[in-house]
Amino acid sequence: MKYVLIGNSAAAIGAVEGIRKVDKKGTITILSDEPYHTYSRPLISYYLADKVTEDQMRYRPEDFYALHGVQFLGGRKALAVKTGEKTVVTAEGDIPYDKLLIATGSKPIVPPVPGLDREGVYTFIKFDDVKKIKEVAAPGKRAVVVGAGLIGMKAAEALVQCGVETTVLDLSDRILSSILDTRAAEMVKAHAETKGVAFKLNNTVVEVRGDNKVSSVLLKDNNELPCDIVIVAIGVTPNLDVIKESDIKYNRGILVDEKMQTSVPDVYAAGDVSEGYDLLYGGQRVLPILPNAYMQGEIAGQAMAGAEVQFGGGFAFNAIGLFGLPMNTAGIANPEGSEYEIMVDESSQDKCYRKIVLKNDRVVGFILLNSIDRSGILTGLIREQADVKAFKQDLIRQDFGYIHFAPDVRKAKLTGGKAGD
Ligand SMILES: Cc1cc2nc3c(=O)[nH]c(=O)nc-3n(C[C@H](O)[C@H](O)[C@H](O)COP(=O)(O)OP(=O)(O)OC[C@H]3O[C@@H](n4cnc5c(N)ncnc54)[C@H](O)[C@@H]3O)c2cc1C
Repeated sequence: MKYVLIGNSAAAIGAVEGIRKVDKKGTITILSDEPYHTYSRPLISYYLADKVTEDQMRYRPEDFYALHGVQFLGGRKALAVKTGEKTVVTAEGDIPYDKLLIATGSKPIVPPVPGLDREGVYTFIKFDDVKKIKEVAAPGKRAVVVGAGLIGMKAAEALVQCGVETTVLDLSDRILSSILDTRAAEMVKAHAETKGVAFKLNNTVVEVRGDNKVSSVLLKDNNELPCDIVIVAIGVTPNLDVIKESDIKYNRGILVDEKMQTSVPDVYAAGDVSEGYDLLYGGQRVLPILPNAYMQGEIAGQAMAGAEVQFGGGFAFNAIGLFGLPMNTAGIANPEGSEYEIMVDESSQDKCYRKIVLKNDRVVGFILLNSIDRSGILTGLIREQADVKAFKQDLIRQDFGYIHFAPDVRKAKLTGGKAGD
């Protein structure tokens, strides 16, 4: 069996490990347009800030490819997929496959702003992006980060740690608007300000100015902000380039069934490029987070090798830290509608904020700021969609734990069985 995987990140690595659980002999070829050994993408900001070395960024040990019998073709881009002939087109020749995985991840959204081609403008999703930024990020430099989402905020954190004077812009009236509510966003913003980040919300860049090199940005409010570095971080979108001309169906991401197989037999997709099942929304959605990419890849790999497996679904979950402030968020954390029940506990003095969202006596989301101990239990309750009616008043307690569960549920949790066993 010839397995070909396009991509070399969480989803592809999950697929290698999934294939090898079932098939020890088939040949596996990984094609990656990046030349590097597989690395953990979330660590790129830590590399910029000198918190990790290139070796420490590895997502798997150096001998991973050899141990798993993988032919790694680094720096080799897949140009197209010919599903009729079952080949992947590359500039160096076509590569035949029996089973193919598309794991091409995300690419940055770049807005149509004049001047973005000037030297000093970067995106922030690849190792090469931060390698270039590292050459110029130094004390005395000024940066503008366009976008206060997770990637923009991680970029800002790293730039400040490099001694760069950093301003973050966002069209929204709050930072991290896709994962935080207004109150939590205010608290994180205030914390980041104490560490030296400046913010301009309800604002964005309308023009990047300078000769060859960027020297300033013109803002929507007509003010001009001098700067040497511009980071474009307004979001990511599934990287569909390689399948655009094929008959593989896609919506926002590639459409897949519960085995992660696309509309074309023997072609699978996993990770940020695909639309997997979202347990909470009850439909197919792009879930661009690393654990989801790995799990989908692992299921795809096993399915490609013939195992009867299914992706049970995922949901949004983020565990991040910004300037030492830890936060975990999951699911539907900022809902609208009277069907949701919301519990909040706040102590702004020690920057703690906890919010739990329920629907029909089931936990469907949470925000935990600077008090993340109960994240695992809450995530489990979301995944299982457990009925929490009997103990829901305890969920928001700082000391909430299995002790508050009904006795049979508690016993099941502690013994790994089912309630009633
Ligand atoms: C700065 C940053 C911080 C993040 N922090 C977190 C976090 O804290 N927690 C979290 O869960 N997630 C985080 N993420 C998101 C996480 O990194 C992604 O969800 C995850 O990497 C997706 O894995 P993937 O395998 O689907 O795709 P990707 O990691 O995007 O990898 C796809 C790979 O395919 C390659 N490729 C694309 N097209 C081709 C082609 N035509 N031919 C050959 N190769 C190709 C790409 O170069 C890339 O190497 C972060 C992302 C960034 C950028």
